[in-house]
Amino acid sequence: MQFDVIILAGGSGQRMGSDKLLLGVGEDLMLSRAVQPFVGRKDVNNIILVLRKDIFDIGNAVAQRFSGQSFLFVEGGGTRSLSVRNGLKKVTAEGVLIHDGARPFVTAAIIDEVVSSVIQYGSGVPAIPITDSIRAIQDGAICGTADREGFVSVQTPQGFVAQDIKRAFDLCGNELQHTDESALYVQYIGNPKVTKGADKNIKITTLGNYIGLNAKVGIGYDIHKLVPFRPLVLGGIQIDYDKGCLAHSDGDAVIHALIDALLSAIGELDIGTRFADTDPKNRDIDSTLLLSDVMDLYKQSNFKPSNVSIIIIADKPKLADYIPLMKIKLSNILGISGSLIGISAKTTEGTAAEETIEVFAITVVT
Ligand code: MG
Repeated sequence: MQFDVIILAGGSGQRMGSDKLLLGVGEDLMLSRAVQPFVGRKDVNNIILVLRKDIFDIGNAVAQRFSGQSFLFVEGGGTRSLSVRNGLKKVTAEGVLIHDGARPFVTAAIIDEVVSSVIQYGSGVPAIPITDSIRAIQDGAICGTADREGFVSVQTPQGFVAQDIKRAFDLCGNELQHTDESALYVQYIGNPKVTKGADKNIKITTLGNYIGLNAKVGIGYDIHKLVPFRPLVLGGIQIDYDKGCLAHSDGDAVIHALIDALLSAIGELDIGTRFADTDPKNRDIDSTLLLSDVMDLYKQSNFKPSNVSIIIIADKPKLADYIPLMKIKLSNILGISGSLIGISAKTTEGTAAEETIEVFAITVVT
């Protein structure tokens, strides 16, 4: 059986406050990521992009990216149902797959199952179990329960024999109030078969789950030799010890590793390039000033660390008592709460050849 694919990209993205399909997922447009898994399949004929007229050029750009695949463009209606109806008018294949342009992580496995189900049963709707409890509410209070075993959360692509879903739309007339095609199918044709969906196949509806997609990770590392007659400063805190880090700056290895993690996450060059140790103005400089400088860069670029995690490796001195102070200090400079800053201290069990302070830092940035 051959399929045409309707991709719904006609929405206004009101919940996002912008056109979400034009937002990036990594280096791609969300719409490209939603289209890509259907491109080049032997069982797919046309990909029908249902778009608002003012973003037809975006549709063209997506189509050009996948040369060799046949695309058709259709203007969206005011609602999902009207958009699907417009798309269905262009369907000539025996089967149709209807997919949300805001589900950029659909996989070949999900599509394969829907396709098989349409071939075998005439329909296929991917779904996942509901893990939260379901409750009925009235006037802001819970008034009843429902057994979640009897419910699933439905996703797309939803697959049908084209003439069946066209018939459902015809029978429905102008009473188009369903939120997806499976509901319409239930009402006019029969009970569509459920196939295996995936947690990963989420629909991007809010800025919150969009931000999750765009999280960046950075890793940083530093090591300094401990020598006599130097103050020891870690995480911006003076540590009581008879040795300190050998360094051009104050030798704060915790902040240096953290700075490298932060710079790395957003693709900037490392601490040594940004704050040259040949520059006299950096001699014995308080490293918290360097971290503040990096946070200014973050502010300008609208980045923010979501959390940071740090490991300090040193046989001596004992650092446990200083960690809460480091967290307060870093919390103030990073502008995030202390609960988002994890710091642990480890020893080398005496295996290190020299007395050093070694630090690993990792951060997630949005
Ligand atoms: Mg350093």
